[in-house]
Amino acid sequence: MTVSFILSSLARLYPDAQCALLFRNPFELLIATILAAQATDKSVNKITPELFRKYPTPADFLPLSPEELEASIRTIGLYKNKARHILATCTLLVSRFGGEVPADRASLESLPGVGRKTANVVLSNAFGVPAIAVDTHVFRVANRLGLAQAATVLETERQLMGNIPEEQWTIAHHWLITHGRQVCHARKPACSSCDLHPVCADYHKKTEE
Ligand code: SF4
Repeated sequence: MTVSFILSSLARLYPDAQCALLFRNPFELLIATILAAQATDKSVNKITPELFRKYPTPADFLPLSPEELEASIRTIGLYKNKARHILATCTLLVSRFGGEVPADRASLESLPGVGRKTANVVLSNAFGVPAIAVDTHVFRVANRLGLAQAATVLETERQLMGNIPEEQWTIAHHWLITHGRQVCHARKPACSSCDLHPVCADYHKKTEE
C-alpha cells in the first residue's frame, strides 16, 4: 500500500521525469554517463553536443591523444581520468564489439570507467532493459522514504528491485532523482512541502524523536 502510494505520488509529481543527459544513441549516452560521474548533468550537456559533432563514433576518438581529448572535456571534474577511460573504452568498442555499444551488463561492465551504475543507466535508457541505477539521490531518497533500508548502493538497488514492479524500475529511478533534486535535498529536505511526508519513514522517525 505504502509503496504503491509513493510510486503513484511520484508519477503524479514528476510526469516528465526522464534522463537529464542529452544523447541521440547508446554511444553518446555511454560517454555522457562516464563524464557525469561526480559531475553535474548540466555541465556534461554543455560540452557533449560539440564533442559528438566532432567525434560521432568510437572510431573517431581513436586518433586522439589523451591531451587532445582533455582539451575538449576540461570543464568536467576528473577530466584527466575520464579522458583515459573514454579512449580505452572506445578502443575496446572498436576492437571487441564492432564499434557498437553492447546491450548486456557483463560486456558493459568490462569497459574502462563503466561500473554497475553506468551500465544500469545505459541499459535502461538506451536499450529499454529494466534497471535501477542507484546514484547519490536515489540512495538517499529511497532510504529516507523507506523504499529501501540498506547501507550500501548494491543492497539499495536489490531492495528497490524487490519493492518496485519491474516495469517501473527505470522510471522510478528518474522519479527518485527528480525528487532528490527538487525536494528531498541532502542537507535540508523540504519535508514541510513534501507530498510524501505522510508515508515517509524518515519524516516519521524525526517527528517522533
Ligand atoms: S518527507 Fe522529507 S525526508 Fe521524506 S521524502 Fe519528503 S523531503 Fe524527503
